[in-house]
Amino acid sequence: MPYTLEVLLDNIVLNEDDILKYIRHLDPNKSHGFDGISVRMLKLCDFSIVKPLSIIFKNCINDGYFPLAWKKGNITPIHKKDKKNLVENYRPISILPICGKIFEKIIFNTLYNFLENNRLLDKNQSGFRSGDSCTNQLLSITHNIFCSFNANPSQEVRGVFLDISKAFDKVWHDGLIFKLKCNGVGGNMLSLLSSFLHDRFQRVVLNGQSSNWVKITAGVPQGSILGPLLFLIYINDISNNLESDVKLFADDTSLFSPVFDANLTADILNNDLVKINQWAHQWKMSFNPNVSKQAHEVIFSKKRNYVNHPDLLFNDINVKKVDCQKHLGLILDNKLTFDNHIKMIIEKTSRGINVLRKLRFHLPRPSLITIYKSFIRSLLDYADAIYDQPYNLSVTNRLESIQYNAALAITGCIRGSSREKLYNELGFESLQSRRWFRKLCIFYKILHAKTPKYLYDIVPQHQQFFNFRNRNQVPNIFCRTEFFRNSFFPSVINEWNKLGAHITNSETFSIFRSSLLKQIRPNSRNIFNIFDPLGIQLITRLRIGLSHLREHKFRHNFNDTLNPLCSCNLEVESVSHFFLRCHFYDNERLVLMNGILNIDPNIHHLDDISISNLLLYGSTEYSNNINKKILEISINFILTSKRFEELLF
Ligand SMILES: [Zn+2]
Repeated sequence: MPYTLEVLLDNIVLNEDDILKYIRHLDPNKSHGFDGISVRMLKLCDFSIVKPLSIIFKNCINDGYFPLAWKKGNITPIHKKDKKNLVENYRPISILPICGKIFEKIIFNTLYNFLENNRLLDKNQSGFRSGDSCTNQLLSITHNIFCSFNANPSQEVRGVFLDISKAFDKVWHDGLIFKLKCNGVGGNMLSLLSSFLHDRFQRVVLNGQSSNWVKITAGVPQGSILGPLLFLIYINDISNNLESDVKLFADDTSLFSPVFDANLTADILNNDLVKINQWAHQWKMSFNPNVSKQAHEVIFSKKRNYVNHPDLLFNDINVKKVDCQKHLGLILDNKLTFDNHIKMIIEKTSRGINVLRKLRFHLPRPSLITIYKSFIRSLLDYADAIYDQPYNLSVTNRLESIQYNAALAITGCIRGSSREKLYNELGFESLQSRRWFRKLCIFYKILHAKTPKYLYDIVPQHQQFFNFRNRNQVPNIFCRTEFFRNSFFPSVINEWNKLGAHITNSETFSIFRSSLLKQIRPNSRNIFNIFDPLGIQLITRLRIGLSHLREHKFRHNFNDTLNPLCSCNLEVESVSHFFLRCHFYDNERLVLMNGILNIDPNIHHLDDISISNLLLYGSTEYSNNINKKILEISINFILTSKRFEELLF
């Protein structure tokens, strides 16, 4: 940290328009603090509350005072996992008064812009930075390791992962104030921040009961807007004078060093670990009390021969060597195959799919799709740009089967149903295409400087002035191994260069995004808001082409179906035979035909295939309401025919 004694930030300029903007942006579903002032109330007042609030804020800024009433937090304990009677199994959620949070937002913007404009925050810090994310940091870490693997001869990388326990609660207030001064914060701004930190109270609220107020003596306030930023300032100098490659994500600290010489690398890392330990003592930060968890090491290696790496020491204890380490939600294994990570997502998602299966008879299809996207597909999306291996068919298929199983669970279709037809029915792009799409979106952002510079710097420079014909092409990184070619940067540059200038030159990100989506995402088939789980399941099976009908079973090689003939023996049991011709269902068919001819007598002139399609899908010629009626008539026929009640096998 470049320490300074000069005061560079001492005040806040208040803008009433900003206050109004923040109020309008508040989420009305957020719970309110102990003062009972809700977001809904503020939104109702809208601009009439701006003036009084700005007077209060202005006085607070002039006095360097953060009101006591806004420093009281209601704590709600949220159960995380395991035994409910142990306090460590709960996550405390702190809820602060909303007016105070609006004031915090104003202070935050001034402070954050000051720090960014003066480049005071460590460039290796990815936590809570706008434009940065876990994925960005993971891309950078894994790319560096891939590059070392790709070197000739292949190099190893030692990575150390540190666990500072409950770091946010440990921040020492006087130390933080000192560091704010060192960064040039003074005057009213410093008094305001000091007042913000001191004299804070909290109480536990549960089932309408509340405990007494208790004073908090250390830490940045939980649930606050300024807390994370103040934490970054506090931890900012942890990486000063370190020789290895340090990556920070809030308090997640990791060190990496490629191995040119085993002893030298061990020395570099050991020296850095000593410095970090000294930093922690000086600033009263402590590491996980369980010493075996304070630091873990992974030796990333593609070498077949064993290399002796001297031990690393942290806090006088040998750093534990592990084969894989979960870092920012991604399991990094020592060969960067991501096998363990993929295994973990398959396990987690299959639990979710079981739940989906049980919900099918209780929820309409759009709700099931929402549940799939938010609780299952989100797990697959996370870090997919990194674990994706476009040329590895077995990994690609294993992942794809997750979404296929989810599609079966949502529709109730039979295993063996065409994946493509199922995805079309639901409007799902394949996961493989989705990863392709998401990687290109990240790459667009990297090229347009919407992610940190450390990612932009990885991309080989354009030579547009010299090579006019290929000016939209990005030169690729040299890949010695297929393994490296599979990794994010080489594979995404390859795909980018295939896109064509009309797409890569998209003016905005949203134009780029939608032109890619157009290529991969099918329009879903409509079920016209019908909530009839069994009926919709059966009609979907007919649409997809795998049902009890003998034509379907024969085509899918069912053992008990040696020919596709209907048991009426007249012809193949196809969808149109079932709906329109099989004499087993003559009575039910009278109801069916009466129903649809009532809707439109002209249907009479259509051929059998067209009528069958109309019965399965409705038609764009009719309104949604009429289509809904048509599908209900088909479902009624399907159910009263009792054709689909026996067991499938
Ligand atoms: Zn028949």
